[in-house]
Amino acid sequence: MVFVNVSNVARKVDGKIIVSFRKFELIFKNPSGTSRGILTKKPSWFLEIQKGSKNGVGECSIIEGLSPDYENDSQYESKLEIIRSKLEIILIKNANYFDFDYSTFRFLNTDLLQLFKEIIDFPSIVFGVEVALLDFFSKEKGILFDNSFSRGQSSIPINGLVWMGSEEFMQEQIEQKLAAGFSTIKMKVGAIDFQKELNLLKGIRKRYSKEEITLRVDANGAFSFEEVKNVLHELKALEIHSIEQPLAAGQIENMRLLCSENILPVALDEEMIGINSLEEKERLIDSISPQFIILKPSLHGGIFGSFEWIKLAEARKIDWWITSALESSIGLNAIAQFTGEFNVSIPQGLGTGGLYTNNLPTDLVIENGYLIRKIN
Ligand SMILES: [Mg+2]
Repeated sequence: MVFVNVSNVARKVDGKIIVSFRKFELIFKNPSGTSRGILTKKPSWFLEIQKGSKNGVGECSIIEGLSPDYENDSQYESKLEIIRSKLEIILIKNANYFDFDYSTFRFLNTDLLQLFKEIIDFPSIVFGVEVALLDFFSKEKGILFDNSFSRGQSSIPINGLVWMGSEEFMQEQIEQKLAAGFSTIKMKVGAIDFQKELNLLKGIRKRYSKEEITLRVDANGAFSFEEVKNVLHELKALEIHSIEQPLAAGQIENMRLLCSENILPVALDEEMIGINSLEEKERLIDSISPQFIILKPSLHGGIFGSFEWIKLAEARKIDWWITSALESSIGLNAIAQFTGEFNVSIPQGLGTGGLYTNNLPTDLVIENGYLIRKIN
């Protein structure tokens, strides 16, 4: 796949490194209800490093209204242009090879470390740059992280996601996910009438015990502190595994209370958006002491930023899982290979590639609730 940024065509010389980006709009098969309203399309920007016939592509994926680094296309593309040109200068100046430390998930080059420091508040771009570099410098095309998952020899357990919508639409998806063999189902709550959502969950629990089907819910901050405890008790009665972001982000003290009371295990998600320095991360995780944290590289600091969260969590015996955030096949593939670096046992939130009419080709398939790379 070769992307050419029109503005760069004139400078395209064999043997010279060129960095370019271009916008790509992913079109949803079905307008999808999310915490951000109904989406019909979602933009990403592909960042490409090229040298002759060699290339590496990363995806800067944003969700409007959620991504902390995106205001509008012109603001985002101005930032991308600055980063693109700095990256190109760094790549031209330095040798043809960059050391990547797979124990810290950081590039060891001083100029690159400086660049990543400067763009720390742009997690989607950090992620795009990281993946473009990993792809460009990979020893073997397609292997961003050399592990058994990337080589198609092991699989990653994932949850089946039930999208928001009418009760009927949600019920239909539940049946599909159960039939497809998922043993963990994640459902959004707080979007339609909570009693209706509860009924959908009750319907599953009537048929399957918690040993058979793990149920996770994601509130995307929908509940008020006044109502949330009742909600948690009702969910607890259905032996729900955990709830993501029961309260809107920013209510640190209330969130801390919920986690310490632990009516239902709480997973932080939106709470971690915009928290990018190590000091801020430590402060947040120690203030709230959540049961789980969720890592979305496009939103939570790219690959090294997500790994920093993982290290903080593990040091505190907090469990975690990695989740994609509407990326195309390019981003999803990178997130999945990164996840393959860990010995995960609990289902991850990967596998949204089938949502789009115009997604790029992928080696990733979902079988019986597991994500696998089918490579020959
Ligand atoms: Mg969430």
